[in-house]
Amino acid sequence: MPSAARLQAYQQIQQRQPVAVEASQPLATTWADDVFTLERMKGALPKAVFKSIQRSIRQGSKLDLSVADAVAQSMKEWATAHGALYYAHVFYPLTNLTAEKHDGFISPQSDGSAISEFSGKFLVQGEPDGSSFPNGGIRSTFEARGYTAWDVTSPAYLMRTPNGVTLCIPTVFVSWTGEALDKKTPLLRSNAAMDQQARRLLQLLGETEIAPVNSSCGAEQEYFLVDEAFAALRPDLRLAGRTLYGAPPAKGQQFDDHYFGAIPERVQVFMQDVEQQLYRLGIPAKTRHNEVAPGQFEIAPFHEAANVATDHQQLIMTVLRSTAKRHGFTCLLHEKPFAGVNGSGKHVNWSVGNTTQGNLLDPGDTPHQNLQFLLFCAAVIRGVHRFGPLMRTAIATASNDHRLGANEAPPAIISVYLGSQLEDVFSQIQSGSLSGSASKALMSLGIDTLPELNRDPGDRNRTSPFAFTGNRFEFRAVGSGQSVAGPLVVLNTILADSIVWVADQLEDGLKAGSSLEEAGFQVIKRTMDDHGAVVFGGDGYSSEWHHKAVEERGLENLRTTADALPVLHRPEIRELFERQGVLSPVELESRFEVYAEQYVLAIEVEARLALRLARTQVLPAVMAYQRTLTEVMLEQKHLRQPVTPEIPATIAEGIGIVSSRSTDLERAIKSLPESDPVAQMRYCAETLLPLMQVLRGAVDGLEELVDDNLWPLPTYEEMLFMR
Ligand code: ADP
Ligand code: MG
Repeated sequence: MPSAARLQAYQQIQQRQPVAVEASQPLATTWADDVFTLERMKGALPKAVFKSIQRSIRQGSKLDLSVADAVAQSMKEWATAHGALYYAHVFYPLTNLTAEKHDGFISPQSDGSAISEFSGKFLVQGEPDGSSFPNGGIRSTFEARGYTAWDVTSPAYLMRTPNGVTLCIPTVFVSWTGEALDKKTPLLRSNAAMDQQARRLLQLLGETEIAPVNSSCGAEQEYFLVDEAFAALRPDLRLAGRTLYGAPPAKGQQFDDHYFGAIPERVQVFMQDVEQQLYRLGIPAKTRHNEVAPGQFEIAPFHEAANVATDHQQLIMTVLRSTAKRHGFTCLLHEKPFAGVNGSGKHVNWSVGNTTQGNLLDPGDTPHQNLQFLLFCAAVIRGVHRFGPLMRTAIATASNDHRLGANEAPPAIISVYLGSQLEDVFSQIQSGSLSGSASKALMSLGIDTLPELNRDPGDRNRTSPFAFTGNRFEFRAVGSGQSVAGPLVVLNTILADSIVWVADQLEDGLKAGSSLEEAGFQVIKRTMDDHGAVVFGGDGYSSEWHHKAVEERGLENLRTTADALPVLHRPEIRELFERQGVLSPVELESRFEVYAEQYVLAIEVEARLALRLARTQVLPAVMAYQRTLTEVMLEQKHLRQPVTPEIPATIAEGIGIVSSRSTDLERAIKSLPESDPVAQMRYCAETLLPLMQVLRGAVDGLEELVDDNLWPLPTYEEMLFMR
């Protein structure tokens, strides 16, 4: 029988009914109902004003204040007609969370009355306290000013809570001195850098009409649902987002019966609720299914412009969390809530393209487009080879470290998977120009002989951190709880930087008299010669690859965040961001400091919590059981029955280990090095985490022995299978 507290949770769960959602309405009537769309602006604004705002959105031209005033006016009218009393500048600090500063539409007047006011000035700029958000030393409290500024490319929307409606305006967040304090600013800059370089390359390829190039992102979000009644009994889930203790369940995911299985009714109702809210917000949630682990699910919206997709991704996480609560669930976005059970990732599908040339990473089926595709693809390969460690850094968090490198998620070694067909094309080009005279070989290789590429190559490689999947790359090592902004910034920036090289090479070739094709193949050949080592189609989980990647291919295996974050201090990384105008050295350094601090804090909190749980929940339960066992043994002796000392001995040993390891951990927490972030990170990775692991081993062993009636923490079995 489970403990009284757990039993009470059982009863709560048994009584739960699926929470009915309002009768689902046809998509056409609710779609983007809560978004101030371009369509709505068109209807509400004078023609000239609308044209001007459209130019700002599509071509990035500057927004002038008179236009902003008109937009603000119509935005306010629309929002108040829907019941909004407040507006909020929404921004994305360096925390992976969303921040909001709410203000009323109200303006008090000198005569004591109040009028409802919202002009362009309020729409365009806000002023939250810059020093209260992580800024890595850019802002000190005495110069706290920070500004939010409207990002016209991401539409305003209404957020509904039981208490009312708020108009939300997506913004960038910068310091008084103009440094980016957020994740949106560098994303916009990286997109602009990529756009500029991509257009240059397209021009060289002979294109004359070239629309702005934008990156696209479709992010697949994995998450766990655990009943709230169980989560309430697990301080580790509440504070750290993951279980610090928990013996493996007798039944785990070994039956492979969860993936794409029938979705349980309560969960399905929850998902429908989430989707209806997302549709109102104009977020194209498209697929939903069970994931590999029990209790694990996925939601994937259709891809959108990277900037909008990133804002939408943040909203999805918010809606998942708040809706779960209404349905009696806790939604876990942590990358590894349960040891030994598959973790959660967020696959970031990424491509670049525009309205005139289409998706530049689509192989297409005409030779001319093939050369264009192959050059862009080569640029990606080159970027990943040169800056793989930076990609690793963009996904480095304390929580994602539990996933990367374990045999379930793409490894911490960044390689590119192309698929056999593409790999073959690239090696043909590579060897084609190797044999004999370059131009002759190229002629005989001939563009016409390039195999036609299928849009959807049949094979997939689930073990690759970065895989080409037909018309896009899929960055599969991104963590489920992360903002996708960081990974997208890195992808856009390294692509921009590589295209510069590709375009320079191409230009040199053309100047030297080569044809476009000859020069293009030459660039591809050089790329593969210099950077082909990053292309890998085998099993990324195998220990053989871990060895080979490092020893033979010269790739880096940055196992932990402590290994990865110092990459931001490398001169080539500083130069890359500066060269592409994405992050200044000061901004980059501030990111290092903030992320290092977050890593250390996360592990410190976990260590304290592990200690507290061991002492205040685990040991008392085990000792209570020991007391009972001792009484039994005394009675056995007294009655001259055979004494059974085995279990009492194991329990006594377990108690000894848990107490002594707790003391070790307590001491270790106190000896955390001061001030130097690199030393602190190393200490967390090399001292605190291993100590916690040893303590956990002992605690989990005891869970399998102690009377279930005394065990305070909900078990893996309960959390994963009961709903
Ligand atoms: P899978 O699980 O097989 O990887 P899903 O259908 O779950 O596929 O998710 C694929 C994601 O990739 C979706 O978000 C989809 O919109 C997105 N996607 C498709 N094409 C592109 C593209 N060209 N650029 C960016 N994302 C894309
Ligand atoms: Mg996928």
